[in-house]
Amino acid sequence: MSLIENIIRPDVRALAAYHVPDATGFVKLDAMENPYTLPEPLRVELGRRLADVAMNRYPVPSYSALKEKIRAQLGVPAGYDVVLGNGSDELITLLSVACAKPGAKVLAPTPGFVMYAMSAKFAGLEFVGVPLKADLSLDRDAMLAAIAQHKPAITYLAYPNNPTGNLFDEDDMVAILRAVGDTGLVVVDEAYQPFAQATFMSRLPEFANLVVMRTVSKLGLAGIRLGYMSASEDLLTEFDKVRPPYNINVLTQAAAEFLLEHVDVLDAQATSLREERTRLAAALAALSGVEVFPSAANFLLIRVKTEKINSNEVFTALLDRKVLVKNVGKMHPLLENCLRITVSTPEENRILLDAVMASLAS
Ligand SMILES: *Cc1c(COP(=O)(O)O)cnc(C)c1O
Repeated sequence: MSLIENIIRPDVRALAAYHVPDATGFVKLDAMENPYTLPEPLRVELGRRLADVAMNRYPVPSYSALKEKIRAQLGVPAGYDVVLGNGSDELITLLSVACAKPGAKVLAPTPGFVMYAMSAKFAGLEFVGVPLKADLSLDRDAMLAAIAQHKPAITYLAYPNNPTGNLFDEDDMVAILRAVGDTGLVVVDEAYQPFAQATFMSRLPEFANLVVMRTVSKLGLAGIRLGYMSASEDLLTEFDKVRPPYNINVLTQAAAEFLLEHVDVLDAQATSLREERTRLAAALAALSGVEVFPSAANFLLIRVKTEKINSNEVFTALLDRKVLVKNVGKMHPLLENCLRITVSTPEENRILLDAVMASLAS
Protein backbone atom coordinates (compact mmCIF):
# COMPACT_ATOMS: atom_id res chain seq x y z
CA MET A 1 0.00 0.00 0.00
CA SER A 2 1.12 3.53 -0.73
CA LEU A 3 1.49 6.29 1.82
CA ILE A 4 -1.80 7.77 0.64
CA GLU A 5 -3.61 4.44 0.93
CA ASN A 6 -2.12 3.86 4.36
CA ILE A 7 -3.31 7.08 5.85
CA ILE A 8 -6.14 8.74 3.91
CA ARG A 9 -9.75 7.59 4.47
CA PRO A 10 -11.07 5.58 1.49
CA ASP A 11 -14.18 7.78 1.22
CA VAL A 12 -11.97 10.88 1.02
CA ARG A 13 -9.70 9.27 -1.60
CA ALA A 14 -12.77 8.46 -3.68
CA LEU A 15 -13.98 12.07 -3.69
CA ALA A 16 -13.42 14.56 -6.47
CA ALA A 17 -12.23 17.93 -5.15
CA TYR A 18 -14.86 20.70 -5.20
CA HIS A 19 -14.19 22.29 -8.56
CA VAL A 20 -14.28 26.07 -8.90
CA PRO A 21 -13.75 27.15 -12.53
CA ASP A 22 -11.31 29.97 -13.32
CA ALA A 23 -13.53 32.88 -14.30
CA THR A 24 -10.83 35.33 -15.41
CA GLY A 25 -12.14 37.38 -18.34
CA PHE A 26 -15.71 36.09 -17.96
CA VAL A 27 -18.95 37.78 -17.02
CA LYS A 28 -19.22 35.83 -13.78
CA LEU A 29 -22.78 34.72 -13.09
CA ASP A 30 -22.11 31.34 -11.47
CA ALA A 31 -21.66 32.03 -7.74
CA MET A 32 -24.37 34.46 -6.61
CA GLU A 33 -21.91 37.25 -5.94
CA ASN A 34 -23.10 40.83 -5.62
CA PRO A 35 -21.65 42.66 -8.66
CA TYR A 36 -21.51 46.03 -6.90
CA THR A 37 -18.55 47.38 -4.95
CA LEU A 38 -18.57 50.08 -2.28
CA PRO A 39 -18.79 53.79 -3.10
CA GLU A 40 -15.35 55.43 -3.20
CA PRO A 41 -15.64 57.43 0.09
CA LEU A 42 -16.53 54.24 1.98
CA ARG A 43 -13.61 52.40 0.39
CA VAL A 44 -11.23 55.09 1.56
CA GLU A 45 -12.70 55.04 5.06
CA LEU A 46 -12.54 51.24 5.17
CA GLY A 47 -8.88 51.41 4.14
CA ARG A 48 -8.18 53.68 7.08
CA ARG A 49 -10.00 51.38 9.49
CA LEU A 50 -8.13 48.32 8.26
CA ALA A 51 -4.80 50.15 8.52
CA ASP A 52 -5.46 50.58 12.25
CA VAL A 53 -6.08 46.87 12.88
CA ALA A 54 -3.57 45.21 15.21
CA MET A 55 -2.53 42.36 12.92
CA ASN A 56 0.23 41.36 15.33
CA ARG A 57 -2.42 40.34 17.89
CA TYR A 58 -4.72 37.37 17.95
CA PRO A 59 -8.39 38.26 17.67
CA VAL A 60 -10.28 38.58 20.95
CA PRO A 61 -12.26 35.35 20.64
CA SER A 62 -15.49 36.64 22.20
CA TYR A 63 -15.97 38.94 19.16
CA SER A 64 -18.40 40.88 21.34
CA ALA A 65 -18.40 44.17 19.38
CA LEU A 66 -19.03 42.44 16.05
CA LYS A 67 -21.71 40.19 17.52
CA GLU A 68 -23.41 43.20 19.09
CA LYS A 69 -23.56 44.93 15.69
CA ILE A 70 -24.92 41.80 14.02
CA ARG A 71 -27.62 41.45 16.67
CA ALA A 72 -28.56 45.12 16.39
CA GLN A 73 -28.48 45.45 12.59
CA LEU A 74 -29.62 42.10 11.27
CA GLY A 75 -32.85 41.33 13.09
CA VAL A 76 -31.72 38.87 15.77
CA PRO A 77 -34.50 38.71 18.41
CA ALA A 78 -33.92 40.29 21.83
CA GLY A 79 -32.17 37.91 24.22
CA TYR A 80 -30.64 35.83 21.39
CA ASP A 81 -26.92 35.66 20.67
CA VAL A 82 -25.00 34.46 17.58
CA VAL A 83 -22.08 32.14 16.86
CA LEU A 84 -19.76 33.34 14.08
CA GLY A 85 -18.19 31.24 11.36
CA ASN A 86 -15.60 31.64 8.62
CA GLY A 87 -18.48 31.71 6.13
CA SER A 88 -21.59 29.68 6.80
CA ASP A 89 -19.67 26.77 5.31
CA GLU A 90 -17.74 26.65 8.59
CA LEU A 91 -20.96 26.87 10.62
CA ILE A 92 -22.23 23.80 8.77
CA THR A 93 -19.00 22.02 9.69
CA LEU A 94 -19.37 23.04 13.35
CA LEU A 95 -22.91 21.65 13.43
CA SER A 96 -21.79 18.36 11.88
CA VAL A 97 -18.94 17.99 14.36
CA ALA A 98 -21.10 18.88 17.37
CA CYS A 99 -23.81 16.39 16.38
CA ALA A 100 -21.66 13.49 15.10
CA LYS A 101 -22.78 10.87 17.60
CA PRO A 102 -22.40 7.31 16.27
CA GLY A 103 -25.21 6.60 13.82
CA ALA A 104 -26.40 10.22 13.67
CA LYS A 105 -27.95 11.37 10.39
CA VAL A 106 -28.41 14.59 8.45
CA LEU A 107 -31.48 15.16 6.31
CA ALA A 108 -32.21 17.75 3.63
CA PRO A 109 -34.42 18.12 0.59
CA THR A 110 -32.70 17.52 -2.74
CA PRO A 111 -31.67 19.18 -4.93
CA GLY A 112 -30.16 21.42 -2.28
CA PHE A 113 -26.94 23.04 -1.14
CA VAL A 114 -24.16 20.47 -1.65
CA MET A 115 -22.23 21.39 1.51
CA TYR A 116 -24.89 19.80 3.76
CA ALA A 117 -24.12 16.36 2.37
CA MET A 118 -20.36 16.93 2.03
CA SER A 119 -19.94 18.22 5.56
CA ALA A 120 -22.06 15.39 6.98
CA LYS A 121 -19.90 12.79 5.24
CA PHE A 122 -16.65 14.42 6.36
CA ALA A 123 -17.82 14.23 9.97
CA GLY A 124 -18.97 10.61 9.58
CA LEU A 125 -22.71 11.32 9.55
CA GLU A 126 -25.06 9.63 7.13
CA PHE A 127 -26.79 11.98 4.70
CA VAL A 128 -30.42 11.35 3.74
CA GLY A 129 -31.77 13.36 0.78
CA VAL A 130 -35.52 13.70 0.25
CA PRO A 131 -36.47 14.75 -3.30
CA LEU A 132 -38.53 17.89 -3.79
CA LYS A 133 -41.73 17.63 -5.79
CA ALA A 134 -41.62 18.24 -9.55
CA ASP A 135 -42.64 21.88 -9.00
CA LEU A 136 -39.62 22.13 -6.63
CA SER A 137 -41.77 22.61 -3.52
CA LEU A 138 -41.18 20.59 -0.36
CA ASP A 139 -42.68 17.10 -0.37
CA ARG A 140 -44.18 17.49 3.08
CA ASP A 141 -45.39 13.90 3.43
CA ALA A 142 -42.07 12.47 2.27
CA MET A 143 -40.16 14.79 4.62
CA LEU A 144 -42.32 13.83 7.60
CA ALA A 145 -42.00 10.13 6.75
CA ALA A 146 -38.21 10.42 6.44
CA ILE A 147 -38.01 12.28 9.76
CA ALA A 148 -40.05 9.54 11.46
CA GLN A 149 -37.88 6.83 9.91
CA HIS A 150 -34.40 8.33 10.28
CA LYS A 151 -34.71 10.62 13.33
CA PRO A 152 -32.14 13.02 11.85
CA ALA A 153 -29.93 14.95 14.26
CA ILE A 154 -29.90 17.83 11.75
CA THR A 155 -32.49 18.76 9.12
CA TYR A 156 -31.46 21.57 6.75
CA LEU A 157 -34.01 23.79 5.03
CA ALA A 158 -32.50 26.51 2.85
CA TYR A 159 -34.93 29.43 2.77
CA PRO A 160 -34.91 30.23 -0.14
CA ASN A 161 -33.40 27.05 -1.50
CA ASN A 162 -30.25 26.83 -3.63
CA PRO A 163 -30.15 25.90 -6.56
CA THR A 164 -33.90 26.19 -7.03
CA GLY A 165 -34.37 29.77 -5.73
CA ASN A 166 -37.84 29.25 -4.26
CA LEU A 167 -39.07 29.82 -0.72
CA PHE A 168 -40.59 26.68 0.77
CA ASP A 169 -44.10 26.88 2.17
CA GLU A 170 -43.96 28.28 5.71
CA ASP A 171 -46.60 25.85 7.03
CA ASP A 172 -44.58 22.90 5.68
CA MET A 173 -41.50 24.23 7.46
CA VAL A 174 -43.40 24.60 10.73
CA ALA A 175 -44.78 21.05 10.36
CA ILE A 176 -41.18 19.83 10.02
CA LEU A 177 -40.00 21.84 13.05
CA ARG A 178 -42.82 20.30 15.11
CA ALA A 179 -42.28 16.76 13.80
CA VAL A 180 -38.56 16.89 14.62
CA GLY A 181 -39.30 18.17 18.11
CA ASP A 182 -36.56 17.49 20.63
CA THR A 183 -34.99 14.67 18.60
CA GLY A 184 -33.04 17.01 16.28
CA LEU A 185 -32.13 20.47 15.05
CA VAL A 186 -33.83 22.19 12.16
CA VAL A 187 -31.38 24.57 10.51
CA VAL A 188 -33.05 27.22 8.41
CA ASP A 189 -30.30 28.46 6.10
CA GLU A 190 -31.09 32.04 5.11
CA ALA A 191 -28.07 32.74 2.90
CA TYR A 192 -30.34 34.67 0.50
CA GLN A 193 -32.37 36.52 3.12
CA PRO A 194 -31.49 40.00 1.72
CA PHE A 195 -33.31 39.07 -1.47
CA ALA A 196 -36.15 37.10 0.09
CA GLN A 197 -37.59 39.47 2.65
CA ALA A 198 -38.88 36.44 4.54
CA THR A 199 -37.23 34.98 7.61
CA PHE A 200 -37.55 32.56 10.51
CA MET A 201 -35.21 34.68 12.67
CA SER A 202 -38.12 36.36 14.46
CA ARG A 203 -39.65 32.92 15.21
CA LEU A 204 -36.66 31.64 17.21
CA PRO A 205 -38.53 32.02 20.53
CA GLU A 206 -41.27 29.65 19.26
CA PHE A 207 -39.02 26.66 18.50
CA ALA A 208 -36.35 25.32 20.86
CA ASN A 209 -34.88 23.18 18.03
CA LEU A 210 -34.60 26.01 15.47
CA VAL A 211 -31.21 27.28 14.29
CA VAL A 212 -31.22 30.23 11.87
CA MET A 213 -28.06 30.48 9.80
CA ARG A 214 -27.01 33.40 7.63
CA THR A 215 -24.01 34.74 5.77
CA VAL A 216 -22.89 38.15 4.53
CA SER A 217 -21.62 36.51 1.32
CA LYS A 218 -24.62 37.02 -0.93
CA LEU A 219 -25.18 40.50 0.51
CA GLY A 220 -21.94 41.63 -1.10
CA LEU A 221 -19.14 40.44 1.18
CA ALA A 222 -18.36 36.96 -0.10
CA GLY A 223 -14.63 37.68 0.09
CA ILE A 224 -14.45 38.41 3.80
CA ARG A 225 -15.93 35.00 4.77
CA LEU A 226 -18.38 35.65 7.59
CA GLY A 227 -21.43 33.67 8.61
CA TYR A 228 -23.53 33.73 11.77
CA MET A 229 -26.16 31.55 13.36
CA SER A 230 -28.62 32.13 16.13
CA ALA A 231 -30.48 29.65 18.34
CA SER A 232 -31.27 29.16 22.02
CA GLU A 233 -28.46 29.95 24.43
CA ASP A 234 -28.14 26.26 25.41
CA LEU A 235 -27.50 25.22 21.81
CA LEU A 236 -25.11 28.08 21.05
CA THR A 237 -23.04 27.19 24.12
CA GLU A 238 -22.50 23.69 22.74
CA PHE A 239 -21.78 24.84 19.16
CA ASP A 240 -19.27 27.36 20.44
CA LYS A 241 -17.22 24.59 22.06
CA VAL A 242 -16.29 23.12 18.68
CA ARG A 243 -15.56 26.51 17.09
CA PRO A 244 -11.84 27.20 16.57
CA PRO A 245 -11.27 30.13 18.98
CA TYR A 246 -9.80 32.55 16.40
CA ASN A 247 -11.94 31.53 13.42
CA ILE A 248 -12.77 35.11 12.41
CA ASN A 249 -9.62 37.01 11.50
CA VAL A 250 -9.08 40.61 12.61
CA LEU A 251 -9.41 42.04 9.09
CA THR A 252 -12.76 40.35 8.55
CA GLN A 253 -13.85 41.47 11.98
CA ALA A 254 -12.92 45.11 11.31
CA ALA A 255 -14.38 45.14 7.79
CA ALA A 256 -17.65 43.61 8.97
CA GLU A 257 -17.98 46.07 11.87
CA PHE A 258 -17.40 48.94 9.48
CA LEU A 259 -19.87 47.66 6.89
CA LEU A 260 -22.56 47.03 9.47
CA GLU A 261 -22.37 50.74 10.26
CA HIS A 262 -23.23 51.31 6.59
CA VAL A 263 -25.64 48.46 6.04
CA ASP A 264 -27.99 50.85 4.20
CA VAL A 265 -25.54 50.81 1.26
CA LEU A 266 -25.70 47.02 1.01
CA ASP A 267 -29.48 47.06 1.48
CA ALA A 268 -29.81 49.50 -1.43
CA GLN A 269 -27.71 47.17 -3.61
CA ALA A 270 -29.96 44.26 -2.64
CA THR A 271 -33.01 46.34 -3.56
CA SER A 272 -31.64 47.05 -7.05
CA LEU A 273 -30.78 43.38 -7.50
CA ARG A 274 -34.34 42.42 -6.58
CA GLU A 275 -35.64 44.86 -9.22
CA GLU A 276 -33.18 43.47 -11.76
CA ARG A 277 -34.32 39.95 -10.86
CA THR A 278 -37.89 40.87 -11.81
CA ARG A 279 -36.76 42.43 -15.09
CA LEU A 280 -34.41 39.59 -16.06
CA ALA A 281 -36.96 36.91 -15.17
CA ALA A 282 -39.57 38.57 -17.36
CA ALA A 283 -37.13 38.96 -20.27
CA LEU A 284 -36.00 35.32 -20.07
CA ALA A 285 -39.57 34.05 -19.69
CA ALA A 286 -40.51 35.93 -22.85
CA LEU A 287 -38.07 33.80 -24.89
CA SER A 288 -39.65 30.75 -26.44
CA GLY A 289 -37.95 27.59 -25.21
CA VAL A 290 -37.07 28.94 -21.76
CA GLU A 291 -38.93 28.29 -18.50
CA VAL A 292 -38.08 30.53 -15.55
CA PHE A 293 -38.78 29.28 -12.02
CA PRO A 294 -39.95 31.71 -9.32
CA SER A 295 -37.01 33.09 -7.31
CA ALA A 296 -36.70 34.79 -3.93
CA ALA A 297 -32.89 34.80 -4.24
CA ASN A 298 -30.30 36.74 -6.31
CA PHE A 299 -30.29 34.06 -8.98
CA LEU A 300 -32.70 32.50 -11.44
CA LEU A 301 -33.14 28.84 -12.24
CA ILE A 302 -34.15 28.37 -15.84
CA ARG A 303 -34.99 25.30 -17.91
CA VAL A 304 -34.17 25.02 -21.58
CA LYS A 305 -37.28 23.59 -23.21
CA THR A 306 -36.77 23.23 -26.92
CA GLU A 307 -36.00 20.37 -29.27
CA LYS A 308 -33.27 22.40 -30.92
CA ILE A 309 -30.79 22.70 -28.08
CA ASN A 310 -30.22 21.39 -24.54
CA SER A 311 -28.86 23.12 -21.45
CA ASN A 312 -25.33 21.78 -21.96
CA GLU A 313 -25.24 23.34 -25.40
CA VAL A 314 -26.61 26.64 -24.10
CA PHE A 315 -23.99 26.54 -21.31
CA THR A 316 -21.20 26.01 -23.86
CA ALA A 317 -22.57 28.70 -26.16
CA LEU A 318 -22.56 31.12 -23.20
CA LEU A 319 -18.96 30.17 -22.40
CA ASP A 320 -18.00 30.94 -26.01
CA ARG A 321 -19.39 34.41 -25.41
CA LYS A 322 -17.42 34.69 -22.17
CA VAL A 323 -20.46 34.31 -19.90
CA LEU A 324 -20.12 31.85 -17.01
CA VAL A 325 -23.29 30.46 -15.40
CA LYS A 326 -23.79 27.26 -13.40
CA ASN A 327 -24.77 24.18 -15.31
CA VAL A 328 -26.95 22.26 -12.84
CA GLY A 329 -28.60 19.97 -15.41
CA LYS A 330 -26.70 16.90 -14.24
CA MET A 331 -26.94 17.65 -10.52
CA HIS A 332 -30.34 16.04 -9.95
CA PRO A 333 -33.06 14.47 -12.15
CA LEU A 334 -35.45 17.30 -11.19
CA LEU A 335 -33.00 19.81 -12.70
CA GLU A 336 -32.73 18.25 -16.12
CA ASN A 337 -31.85 20.91 -18.70
CA CYS A 338 -31.56 23.59 -16.03
CA LEU A 339 -29.06 26.42 -15.62
CA ARG A 340 -28.58 28.66 -12.58
CA ILE A 341 -27.86 32.30 -13.35
CA THR A 342 -26.80 34.98 -10.87
CA VAL A 343 -28.70 38.25 -11.22
CA SER A 344 -26.21 41.05 -11.84
CA THR A 345 -26.03 44.66 -13.06
CA PRO A 346 -28.31 45.81 -15.91
CA GLU A 347 -25.28 45.71 -18.25
CA GLU A 348 -24.24 42.17 -17.35
CA ASN A 349 -27.84 40.95 -17.43
CA ARG A 350 -28.13 42.39 -20.94
CA ILE A 351 -24.99 40.51 -22.03
CA LEU A 352 -26.42 37.31 -20.56
CA LEU A 353 -29.79 37.79 -22.21
CA ASP A 354 -28.21 38.47 -25.61
CA ALA A 355 -26.04 35.37 -25.24
CA VAL A 356 -29.02 33.17 -24.34
CA MET A 357 -31.00 34.57 -27.27
CA ALA A 358 -28.11 33.95 -29.66
CA SER A 359 -27.70 30.36 -28.44
CA LEU A 360 -31.40 29.63 -28.94
CA ALA A 361 -31.34 31.16 -32.41
CA SER A 362 -28.27 29.24 -33.58
C1 LIG B 1 -23.82 30.36 -0.75
C2 LIG B 1 -24.52 29.56 0.28
C3 LIG B 1 -23.96 29.34 1.53
C4 LIG B 1 -22.49 29.59 1.80
O1 LIG B 1 -22.22 30.78 2.30
P1 LIG B 1 -20.76 31.19 2.77
O2 LIG B 1 -21.06 32.03 3.95
O3 LIG B 1 -20.17 31.94 1.63
O4 LIG B 1 -19.96 29.98 3.15
C5 LIG B 1 -24.70 28.66 2.49
N1 LIG B 1 -25.92 28.19 2.20
C6 LIG B 1 -26.49 28.36 1.00
C7 LIG B 1 -27.83 27.79 0.74
C8 LIG B 1 -25.79 29.03 -0.01
O5 LIG B 1 -26.32 29.12 -1.22
